[in-house]
Amino acid sequence: MNFNLADTVRRVGFRKWYERQLLSSHAHMVLAFLSVIALVASMEAFRTSQGELQQANVMYVLVSAVIGAWALRRYLFLLMRAEHTANQASCPDCGDYGRFEVVRQRVGVQEMDVCCRKCSRIWLICAGQ
Ligand SMILES: [Zn+2]
Repeated sequence: MNFNLADTVRRVGFRKWYERQLLSSHAHMVLAFLSVIALVASMEAFRTSQGELQQANVMYVLVSAVIGAWALRRYLFLLMRAEHTANQASCPDCGDYGRFEVVRQRVGVQEMDVCCRKCSRIWLICAGQ
């Protein structure tokens, strides 16, 4: 997935970007939870099956575990990045939260200079870890 914070903030605004990140991360959390249910169900089916059906259940267990691990990792990444960025979204002078314009995007890194809409203060927001 290609992530460009500055372009997205320019297009939809910071608050909308933050809201979308939280929704996306929690959708991944739900997927991780459903994967755990599928994993437990596959393990139970494995216990009571025999022959080729048992081999198929091993595959279901593995697929459920891989999807669950990926979804959990993605959930944590999206949530941490959103929180890390949101902690820098208040204007250092007037304290106005999330109301800024992107002035300049730094090439190659997830950083951008932003300007407060209320008091015109410019500061740096870094979304990278
Ligand atoms: Zn300000």
